[in-house]
Amino acid sequence: MQVGFIGLGHMGQHMARHVAEAGHNVAAFDLRAEAVAQLTKTPNARRASSVAEAASGAEIVFTSLPGPPEVESVVSGPDGLMESMQSGTVYVDLSSNSPTTVRKLHAAFADRGISMLDAPVAGGVIGAEAGTLSVMVGGDQATFERVRPVLAAFGARLFYCGPSGNGAITKLCNNLSSQAQIAAAGEILSLGVKAGVDLEILASAIGQSTGTCRAIVDTFPKQLFRRHFEDPGFTSILSAKDTHLAIEMAHEFGVPMPIGEIVERDKQEALRRGWGPLSPDVFVRLQEERAGVTLEYAKQTTP
Ligand code: NAD
Repeated sequence: MQVGFIGLGHMGQHMARHVAEAGHNVAAFDLRAEAVAQLTKTPNARRASSVAEAASGAEIVFTSLPGPPEVESVVSGPDGLMESMQSGTVYVDLSSNSPTTVRKLHAAFADRGISMLDAPVAGGVIGAEAGTLSVMVGGDQATFERVRPVLAAFGARLFYCGPSGNGAITKLCNNLSSQAQIAAAGEILSLGVKAGVDLEILASAIGQSTGTCRAIVDTFPKQLFRRHFEDPGFTSILSAKDTHLAIEMAHEFGVPMPIGEIVERDKQEALRRGWGPLSPDVFVRLQEERAGVTLEYAKQTTP
């Protein structure tokens, strides 16, 4: 198929490469020329010099952009997708976006005879690189079936979540789940360490027992416990954006989220501290400060 791909960052770079490697012709655009140059080393991938050029002649256009403002600008800005795409084609937004934004754009595209799917992904840069992402899809089911083979180029698990916006909702719930687990795990480990148990023993015991979660067995041992927050594939800026969108959605649907509000508060404070470019679990440092402990291998502050 003829594919346009806009946004070649940590995720888009790999997803676009997998689409090209699956034999589709990819016209790629990003504001960063070096990202386009990197992708066009892949056979079947060529440079587009604008959004409109990436969309020209494309049967499917993908975006993988930071969030709602960037998607709105690429879609509705001058020479954006809304103007450039042809009737009968499909637009797939892979960004973690707001369901309200997605539904508004879906309706505007439908007026022009273009089908839009929201198809945010999960699995991180490792999953993007390996082509083993989860893809959470909202929109028309027949359109989903039509583009399924292209999504399968980078997605090992494709979930059809229902009408427009349902992919975005599912993704925001997934990410709030992961951040809430990080917050809870950080709090609980700060208690155990402050009360006198060695961090490695505590994390190992809980990690292999009923209290386990991914933060304890995977994320913290790689990042928090080693103070390795730099050069993350996924930043606190994007993670705080997702938490904020989830809380906004909760307000919109009148769902009280006491746990989510605590996560939101700490993630916003992490941004105020200038930790935006660091890995998402860096906000656990706020709990360390409150508790007076450091959750670091072989360097724990205990009473
Ligand atoms: P990123 O910041 O690494 O990449 C975004 C890319 O978009 C950049 O290359 C940037 O230059 C480009 N861009 C921004 N505005 C543009 C515009 N107007 N026109 C063209 N290009 C533009 O972000 P990422 O980590 O690749 O994430 C992309 C999306 O996927 C986000 O919504 C994020 O929340 C989501 N996501 C990320 C991860 C992860 O682990 N990084 C995992 C799952 C989902």
